[in-house]
Amino acid sequence: MNNSYDIVIIGAGYAGLVCARVAAQRGLKVLVIEKKAEAGIQLHTTGIIVKEAADELHIPKEFTRKVHGVRLYAPGMKRFDLDSPGYYFLAADTRGLLRWLAEQAAGAGAELVFGQAFDGARREGDEIVLDKPSIRARYLVGADGARSQVARCFGLGVNTRMLVGVETEFEGVEGVEQDRLNCFLDSNLAPGYIGWAVPGVGVTQVGLAGRLGEKPSTEALIEKLRDVYDFSNARVVERRSGPIPVGGMVRPFAAERVLLVGDAAGLVSPLTAGGIHPAFRYGRRAAQVISDHLLDNGPDPGLVLAREYPRYRWKALLRRSLDRDPPNWFYDWTLGLPPMRAFAQLVYFHRKGLKTRAGWRDLLRWRR
Ligand SMILES: Cc1cc2nc3c(=O)[nH]c(=O)nc-3n(C[C@H](O)[C@H](O)[C@H](O)COP(=O)(O)OP(=O)(O)OC[C@H]3O[C@@H](n4cnc5c(N)ncnc54)[C@H](O)[C@@H]3O)c2cc1C
Repeated sequence: MNNSYDIVIIGAGYAGLVCARVAAQRGLKVLVIEKKAEAGIQLHTTGIIVKEAADELHIPKEFTRKVHGVRLYAPGMKRFDLDSPGYYFLAADTRGLLRWLAEQAAGAGAELVFGQAFDGARREGDEIVLDKPSIRARYLVGADGARSQVARCFGLGVNTRMLVGVETEFEGVEGVEQDRLNCFLDSNLAPGYIGWAVPGVGVTQVGLAGRLGEKPSTEALIEKLRDVYDFSNARVVERRSGPIPVGGMVRPFAAERVLLVGDAAGLVSPLTAGGIHPAFRYGRRAAQVISDHLLDNGPDPGLVLAREYPRYRWKALLRRSLDRDPPNWFYDWTLGLPPMRAFAQLVYFHRKGLKTRAGWRDLLRWRR
């Protein structure tokens, strides 16, 4: 390992690896430092990739399977199917995908160091200096997740509002609809969020999220799901959990020669808790604007991205209403009504979910 780099990126997750690949492709000397022993282990995500992200990053087919719709269950288990022609989600083999992203970054020329935790750095003149390993960098990127050490080290904003997600990956669960994300509304089991059963790549991923401090129980969800799925031959492959920032972008997210991306920057939808698409998108943008700055005297990356990072205003507003835990009877009562269905279409498929005028009108039609 040389000790002088254009960019040092902390974290080999989605944001860090995409950033590393693009920065190396642009001719920068890049180092990624990751505390885990290798890419794609100790996962903490379900890994659903929305179509918009799949359109931006061409992921080899072997790591994903398409899922075309959503089956949304009310707390009383009445179900509703939601679709949007042409739209799909990708369930992913996240281990394989992260390993592939690491290979892509290395193939583009980035150096990756695994098994090394970042634990501090300082600014010295025009450089950022790390002691362990002994490194000098012209720019430091914090892609180190929801509890970013880089943010703390440089006095940047940190995530305060979080959900906690827990998930069990199974083989051998029977009866799960294979072409839909199966989602379960239940304010008792998943306060502030939902539960899910995702037909993954060769596995079924069953999980739920709720507010931090009220760790949700996968066992309780599975107990409820025994009415609809057969777990008698199910074998647990892996269990995982992790925090999900839902408070929106942290402030400040950048300082001189230091920038946060992905979960570290709070780039997660406060409503859907999806962070993979923003990690891809802004990982790439961070690499582009930093290379413009370092190679071509371009503007300050922090200022450029301050105009581009999403504000999530209406999603943050809706997050506040979910935080009030609408009672289960409310979901049971309203889910069949056109406005709720239209709203659910909007949440899962964005504007494409309400393609027709009738779809938009449904948002205001409070009669069945
Ligand atoms: C249970 C759960 C389910 C989820 N499901 C989905 C989903 O289906 N779809 C979706 O879009 N989003 C989902 N999310 C959110 C999504 O996983 C994150 O938004 C996404 O992983 C963010 O990517 P990232 O690269 O910013 O951070 P991370 O994926 O967290 O990667 C950060 C990396 O930094 C490393 N790191 C941390 N600290 C240090 C340090 N000090 N030194 C060196 N390395 C360090 C970590 O080991 C990690 O590899 C889910 C989250 C959870 C918890």
